[in-house]
Amino acid sequence: MAYNPDPRAPMFTNLHYCSRCGMPSTEPKADFDELGVCVACRASEQKMHIDWQARERRLAEILEQFRGKSTSGYDCIVPISGGKDSAYQLHLIKNVYKLKPLACTFSHNWFSETGMRNLRWCLETFDVDHVMFTPSRGLVNRCARRSLEMIGDACWHCHSGVGSYPVQVAVQYKIPLIVYGESAAEKSSHADYDNLLEYDEHYFTKISAFYYPEEFATDYLSVRDLSPFKLPPGEELRKLGFYGIHLGNFIFWDGERQTEFLRDHYGWQEDKVEGTYKCYKSVECRMPGVHDFTKFLKRGYGRGTDFTSQDIRAGLMTLEEGNIIARENDPVEPDILEYYLKSTGYTREEFYRIMDEQREKVGALTREEIQDALTDAARRKAERLAREAGNDA
Ligand SMILES: [Zn+2]
Repeated sequence: MAYNPDPRAPMFTNLHYCSRCGMPSTEPKADFDELGVCVACRASEQKMHIDWQARERRLAEILEQFRGKSTSGYDCIVPISGGKDSAYQLHLIKNVYKLKPLACTFSHNWFSETGMRNLRWCLETFDVDHVMFTPSRGLVNRCARRSLEMIGDACWHCHSGVGSYPVQVAVQYKIPLIVYGESAAEKSSHADYDNLLEYDEHYFTKISAFYYPEEFATDYLSVRDLSPFKLPPGEELRKLGFYGIHLGNFIFWDGERQTEFLRDHYGWQEDKVEGTYKCYKSVECRMPGVHDFTKFLKRGYGRGTDFTSQDIRAGLMTLEEGNIIARENDPVEPDILEYYLKSTGYTREEFYRIMDEQREKVGALTREEIQDALTDAARRKAERLAREAGNDA
């Protein structure tokens, strides 16, 4: 039996799990060393040996090269979602390096109330100019429908728009420098700190959107509809001297410490996110529940595991504690799935059928194995709710 019902153990006996953090072999680009340790765990060790002072000096040099260079009056673009990383990017760029940024936001149009409040809070707190693009509800809904069969999650328009919109703004305002936050080495297998994934305009297509608008178009979604997701011509970008960096490649990135810092110094607020026990990630969006549940259906892990693996790496919990928490979060159908089905026109059966196909593409788990995990999680949740109701009585 491939599903292991012991909550302290990893969920599936037929997957390899990182011996240190518990991240499974179904993670995209997963790669384990001879001790069974994953890329992100190796990167977190590299982090301790890197000469961060030298990297920070390099960052200061790069930023200095671009100061006052744009005819628009802005030194750089800072793409923000309104989340925790956004606030920290603006803190560094505006208040530490004293540059004049133009903040820009691609709205996925799934903002939570907390997310909108946080975005406004960011703009007020850091006192920056801001531009934003919001695709129409109909366009978002059609993209979310197409997205499931193309990439196996609901979020192509967001993956694609957060990549293309800041590049369009760079061209429009003639601002060559774009400054992102967290490094790809921080929590994925796309890169480590010795082999950085350098930013260029194709970065988000490579790591998350996978398809350009021309490839994504279909009978109910024309290339013209998808023009907000198009990259400017490479020729224009070369003429501009377009250049992008991730601050996390130059500065020791510590999400926990940054959240505490933002809370204590600037009054940052937290909120609950479905599908995970952590409060500070994707708090701006209503849809992470569906995004992460589709990941579980395809790959047998979700956001619970994403966060527990980070906490285990950071020494905040044991592997066994992580397994228990991941199991309470990953295999649970999110409430927001109802909204997703309604807005895309998919029936529940169609949704699960498409996810069956997507899981077969990953090729690691069977429908029965995933079903066993879902059934067991539903039983545990019902027991927990009954216990809590009993305690209240
Ligand atoms: Zn690991």
